Amino acid sequence: MVNALRHICQRLYPYGVFRTGKAVYLTFDDGPIPEVTPAVLEILDRYQVKATFFMVGENIDKHPDIFDQVLKAGHTIGNHTYNHMKGIRHSCSAYLANVTKCQNTIDHRLSVNRSLTTRRSCLMRPPYGKAWFWQRRTLVRRGYRLIYWDVLTRDYDAAQTPEAMLALIKSRTSAGSIINFHDSLKSNGRMLAVLPQAIEWLLEQGYELRSL
Ligand SMILES: [Zn+2]
Repeated sequence: MVNALRHICQRLYPYGVFRTGKAVYLTFDDGPIPEVTPAVLEILDRYQVKATFFMVGENIDKHPDIFDQVLKAGHTIGNHTYNHMKGIRHSCSAYLANVTKCQNTIDHRLSVNRSLTTRRSCLMRPPYGKAWFWQRRTLVRRGYRLIYWDVLTRDYDAAQTPEAMLALIKSRTSAGSIINFHDSLKSNGRMLAVLPQAIEWLLEQGYELRSL
C-alpha cells in the first residue's frame, strides 16, 4: 500500500522527493584490533558511510592508534565494558566499575590526543546484550544510552556464511534498523566478505547509513 502510494506520487510529481531520512545504523563490537578494524574502516571509507564502534577498554589500551584511526575517520564510539563483561554473571557494583573503567580509558585517550575532536560518547552496549535490570537502570541514570540492535548478523558463528548473513540483513532491515557486526578475530573473514555487499544493497534500497 505504501509502495503503491509512493509510486503514484512519483508518477504525479517526478521531481519530488518522497522518501528521505531513511537511516540504518551499522555497528561493530569488540574492537579495536589491528587485524580487523582498519579493514572495516577501509570499506566504510570506500562507500563514504559512517558507523558506530562499541569498543572493549582493554583493546583500546592495547591499540590506541587504532582507536585514533576510528575517530579520525569520523565514526562514533561507544562503551562495551573494559573486559567484555557479561553483566548477568556479576554484581551491579562490579559491572558498573568495569563500564566506568572502559569510559575512563576512552576519556583518557581523548585527553591525550586532543586532535580527536569528538563529543564525549555516552553510548554503551552491554556485551552479549545481557545485563540485569538494575545494572541497566543504573547506567541509564548515570547518563548512558544503551544501544542494542534489531538485526544480529551472527558473524561470530563459524556455521554462518556470508550468503546467509546477507539474506538475513535483507529480510530483517527496515528504516531505523541497527545492524550488529563484530570487528573481532572470530568474525573476521565472514564479516569482511559480507560488509561491502550489505552496504551496496542498503544504499541501493535508499537507506542512509549513519553513525549513532
Ligand atoms: Zn561484544
